[in-house]
Amino acid sequence: MDCTKCGNPQVIAKREYSGQYLCKDCFIESIEKKVIKTVKKEKLLDKGDKVLVALSGGKDSVTVLEILNSFRKKNIIDLCAVTVDEGIDNYRQDGVDIAINHAKRLGIEHKVVCLKEEYGITLDEIMQKPNHKGSCSYCGVFRRTIINKAAREFGATKIATGHNLDDEVQAIMMNYLEGNIDNLTKLGAKSQSKAKEFTVKIKPLREIPEREIGLYVVAKDLDVHFASCPYAQQSFRGEVSEIVNQLSVDHPTIKYSTLRGYDKIKNILKDNIKKQYPEGRCVKCGEPSANELCKACTFLEELKD
Ligand code: SF4
Ligand SMILES: [Zn+2]
Ligand SMILES: [Zn+2]
Repeated sequence: MDCTKCGNPQVIAKREYSGQYLCKDCFIESIEKKVIKTVKKEKLLDKGDKVLVALSGGKDSVTVLEILNSFRKKNIIDLCAVTVDEGIDNYRQDGVDIAINHAKRLGIEHKVVCLKEEYGITLDEIMQKPNHKGSCSYCGVFRRTIINKAAREFGATKIATGHNLDDEVQAIMMNYLEGNIDNLTKLGAKSQSKAKEFTVKIKPLREIPEREIGLYVVAKDLDVHFASCPYAQQSFRGEVSEIVNQLSVDHPTIKYSTLRGYDKIKNILKDNIKKQYPEGRCVKCGEPSANELCKACTFLEELKD
């Protein structure tokens, strides 16, 4: 089959969900246009924003950086980046090096923050503890705190993450299956928090399937860290991902329909969202928190035992 858009016989992508065949140039253009469409539709950017990209060096965050840089080149926004080094041996360092190189290549302010320096413990060390609660729980909480702090230090007005369509659908399904309605209502293209300590988070890649981001970085010849985290397989997310991908084989539009359905439910639930955000401060570290101790400090206390 030739490219549906221009007739070029050298097709690199077949989209089961739309029936399109695309050549390299049309594929790259279509991804970039789709992201720009999400940015406009969801009002993710305002002129003059300083956007902090959570840059792991993986395909998703490098793609976010690359596409948001087109807004920077047009002087619509400014960009900066932060990379969190969780301390995962034989895995994280390659991503950190790649992140440093991309920030240098684009001339973007960038900092690397290590879990060890920030909290005195690496993720690998946490996983040696007999009472640990699973790698991703710690990783998510510590990373979120570090990124929020970095946003304040950089004076960023938005935080952009590389969440793609698959990530978002997995999060919707996981929270639904676990009955975690509080977290369910917090998903979406843009975080709803009104608390000024929390920088608004945006997900420009929310409508791009993970597979297509992989193809985009290859087509654009972008250097990315492709290895998977050694802890990824232990997660509930991994199991949910497998089920959704299996269903997508015979139902190719299922990820988009899950996302669209969720967006409708979210609008109905949105009155509940206001109550969910913390108004106090953690007595130990001063970060915003609903309880006396924030989640990161609670974990650190538990890990002392
Ligand atoms: S898969 Fe690895 S990097 Fe991702 S949240 Fe879990 S522990 Fe952290
Ligand atoms: Zn084409
Ligand atoms: Zn704290």
